[in-house]
Amino acid sequence: NMEDYIKSGEICKKAREFGVTLLKENARFIDIAEKIEAKIKELGGEPAFPVDVGVDHLAAHDSPRYNDDRILKKGDVVKLDLGVHVNGAVTDTAVTVEISTSNYKNLIECSEKALQDALSIVKPGIEVREIGRIIKETIEKKGFLPIINLSGHKLDIYEVHASPSIPNFDNGDNTKLVEGEVIAIEPFVTDGLGKVIEGKPSGIFSLINAKNVRDNNARKILDYIIKKYKTLPFSERWLINEFGLRVKFALLSLEREGIIKQYKILPEKNKGQVAQAERTIIIGKGIIN
Ligand code: MN
Ligand code: MN
Repeated sequence: NMEDYIKSGEICKKAREFGVTLLKENARFIDIAEKIEAKIKELGGEPAFPVDVGVDHLAAHDSPRYNDDRILKKGDVVKLDLGVHVNGAVTDTAVTVEISTSNYKNLIECSEKALQDALSIVKPGIEVREIGRIIKETIEKKGFLPIINLSGHKLDIYEVHASPSIPNFDNGDNTKLVEGEVIAIEPFVTDGLGKVIEGKPSGIFSLINAKNVRDNNARKILDYIIKKYKTLPFSERWLINEFGLRVKFALLSLEREGIIKQYKILPEKNKGQVAQAERTIIIGKGIIN
């Protein structure tokens, strides 16, 4: 439903703009995430995944844990990545902000330029490899590298990473984008090796295979997950706020049984600095957030 996507995109844009105002020295990561998630709900949407606050080489999937005590420091390069859904219509956006310094101005501007260049060539019938090609070209002109194992993606109902992926280099995929498809484009730019590896567990989970569980506590949490999040990523923090710390045991057992999976934090392989910019576009219509 296009109206749901338009509304989702409007909320997503407002939440990003609000989020940027929170990115200040000494701000607590958990307050940033929770204030943005509350703003999304206040505006009539739901978070499509837990708000990510990734600093420096931590490129993706770093959302504050329930007991997170980190605060932003001068010189931090923050990638704020957030998603909204309205009746399952997901929109996705990200922006990079450096806290009180401008040592990485070129890197951050490069991510924005790569995004703009990509958005400027998107139209019905374009091959996804072409979008990747222009992203890489823009980034390399500035002397940086794209992160090749992170990519944009199609968005679908209750699905953040639908197929096809929108690569940050020419990956040879000649899939053509079709009018009306909803697509997130997200160049990641680094002064490192151009790759992320798997780091620590993130406390972000999603449902992969709903089946019976014996344990009463785990079953109750699973029923809630299925009803509330469906196949969208959710935070351990959200469930702890709802049910208390016993959630930890339930999630462990659901993960062990292959019912849910936990995402890993994704650091740049050489601990390079990372900037990201992301917008959602409806093919043939335009940017919606
Ligand atoms: Mn995103
Ligand atoms: Mn995305």
